[in-house]
Amino acid sequence: MPDVFADLVGQDEAVATLRHAAAAAAAVLRAAHPAAVGSGQAEVEGEPGVDPGAGMTHAWIFTGPPGSGRSVAARAFAAALQCAYGTGCGECPGCHTTMTGTHADVRLVVPEGLSIGVGEMRALVLRAASTPSGGRWQIVIIEDADRLTEAAGNALLKAIEEPPPRTVFLLCAPSTHPDDVSVTIRSRCRVVPLRQPPAAAVAEVLVRRDGIAPDVAQWAAAAAQGHVGRARRLARDPEARQRRDAVLAVPRRLTGVGAALDAASALIEAAEAEAEASVAEADAAERAALQTALGAGGTGRGAAGAMRGAAGQLKDLEKRQKSRATRAQRDALDRALVDLAAFYRDALTMALRAPVAPVHTDTAAMAEAGAQKWDAEGALRRLEAVLECRAAIEANVKPRIAVEAMMLTLWKG
Ligand SMILES: [Zn+2]
Repeated sequence: MPDVFADLVGQDEAVATLRHAAAAAAAVLRAAHPAAVGSGQAEVEGEPGVDPGAGMTHAWIFTGPPGSGRSVAARAFAAALQCAYGTGCGECPGCHTTMTGTHADVRLVVPEGLSIGVGEMRALVLRAASTPSGGRWQIVIIEDADRLTEAAGNALLKAIEEPPPRTVFLLCAPSTHPDDVSVTIRSRCRVVPLRQPPAAAVAEVLVRRDGIAPDVAQWAAAAAQGHVGRARRLARDPEARQRRDAVLAVPRRLTGVGAALDAASALIEAAEAEAEASVAEADAAERAALQTALGAGGTGRGAAGAMRGAAGQLKDLEKRQKSRATRAQRDALDRALVDLAAFYRDALTMALRAPVAPVHTDTAAMAEAGAQKWDAEGALRRLEAVLECRAAIEANVKPRIAVEAMMLTLWKG
């Protein structure tokens, strides 16, 4: 049985840090309650020059590019902290319930909209201060900590500055740049940097864990550029492959201004459709649940007041759903742009005769033709246009405007 760190692909250094910290944390618990905490196999005390608990701290930030496994790392570490053996054995109830998301002392915050609000954060901080029911740690995992609002960040900072003794905060963010995580939060946390895992390591895990055929796994791992989740989707989901094919057909289609604007529309509409499909089910379920809870159509005493309250709740729900849909659209568009960027990066490396393998093996011939036609300089200008488009959308430029500008540069060079 593989332990909880097995799916953290190509991150040996980070895993070593986390194992050490989990062992140190177990030593802290043993020192506090010698009899109460499992048998404990980790022997940090035995290591020369290491105090029990020296490798452990109460606030961590996991950084790395999308798909590198930030939240996988945070969850695995949480499991190791809740593990009866302090190792993340993968078999005990502590490991098991943490990994399946049902541990009573592990809270996972996944922002659904574009930001995590202050109300949500305050409630979370309050609950995180309670004594762990399982006798080990209270753990709060915050995915996309870069999407905290300023007020929510401040609420979190207060908790991190004066941590309850058994509470551990695990934050995930793309980087420790002040745009992602405030300097004051950063200064209170230990950083675990994750790297983009090599394609071979991603392919290996697809074969071992998901039973995907080796040749498909290798192609998907390269095409997904080290993004483990995306590699799995490409390997398994024909619709994901179709969407990728459509994106990679863009460079071929750019034959004039009209074609460039058409390509922009197609790209945005495809992202909208993908996003709509991904949130539609959750939206409908939430609406139905709210209607049931409100007892739609009720009459009698209190019904008028209840209806007024209901209107407010429905409005709240619609706001949350709209924010989630916007986020899903941006994520879908960003995935498309990452694929497109890689195509021009392939053309650039070919123009430079750089000895690196193409990301998109299936469009390598088209990239080679581009390299001949544009030269390194033209390929670089196009690659930069895609990256600028991503940055513009991130900075809240209307996606259609950013994508149209990009398409025109991709056509003209
Ligand atoms: Zn365990």
